[in-house]
Amino acid sequence: MPEEQPHVAGFVAVVGRPNVGKSTLINALVRAKVSIVTPKPQTTRHRILGIRTEERSQMVFVDTPGLHTNARKAMNRLMNRAADNAIRDADLVLFVVEANRWTAEDAQALKRIGAAGKAPVIAVINKIDKVHPKEELLRVIDEMTARFTFAEVVPVSALRGENLDRLVSVIPSYLRESPPLFPEDAVSDRSDSFRVAELIREKLTLALRQEVPYGLTVQVERFEREAEGFAIAALILVERDSQKGIVVGKGGALLKKAGRAVRLELKEQYGVPVHLELWVKVRDNWADSEEQLLRLGYD
Ligand code: GDP
Ligand code: MG
Repeated sequence: MPEEQPHVAGFVAVVGRPNVGKSTLINALVRAKVSIVTPKPQTTRHRILGIRTEERSQMVFVDTPGLHTNARKAMNRLMNRAADNAIRDADLVLFVVEANRWTAEDAQALKRIGAAGKAPVIAVINKIDKVHPKEELLRVIDEMTARFTFAEVVPVSALRGENLDRLVSVIPSYLRESPPLFPEDAVSDRSDSFRVAELIREKLTLALRQEVPYGLTVQVERFEREAEGFAIAALILVERDSQKGIVVGKGGALLKKAGRAVRLELKEQYGVPVHLELWVKVRDNWADSEEQLLRLGYD
């Protein structure tokens, strides 16, 4: 009888500039929504794990905030540091780029990866659904290959689920021999109330016409299972009075719209009704104070 393959496990840091599709990719790879997604950059602020368990392997994907060129703001510095730490601790790095767009920010991100860690790097060329004609992709792959000594270059569409099987099949060979690091049915390391806070942030970001750049954070104050369903109360913190007005909307319209979207998605997820209370409060200059950020859990 042939000897059984050893079980492997490890951390896979997913890095790249904002908006290339890192969170979408992780959600697709773990087949669950563990990280929120919007068309606006800087949606992901926290380090979030997405876990995929296979027969002989467990891949722990680390979603990172996008790498930023402008490190002046405390928030950006913290986000870069989070990405650096994830790269340093990783067994493997997925460097995600857009197939139809290579910018100075991508080049900077790649430089940072080279400087931060020794782990092998797989280039994931995402959004191939946007490449026309298809032959164009060969040129994109060639250009990518020339930029760094990548372990692999894998074109995918995270949104359409194209070529993800290929990515999943090459990853285990870069992990270490190890039993599973997390329970085999886990898809994330985060609590339900954290995921709800993130979901509220996603729906608000989607409902807002303009960006509230760093000015918005959500804290779940109450999360209880009751006879008829869940009772949730959350506090939305903004930087200024003017932002409070924007988030609440005319006659509370925006808050209601976002709240409805949150309730619908939670109801689908949990299969029971959700009673949701949202409050908006102004907190002074929190995005510029590192201490404040750390206390709110941006570690
Ligand atoms: P992140 O900032 O790198 O985490 O990027 P997100 O995952 O939040 O995605 C940013 C935007 O790109 C969202 O509007 C996604 O729907 C979109 N997106 C992600 N992957 C793909 C893809 O494969 N194809 C296309 N067309 N859009 C994508
Ligand atoms: Mg993201």
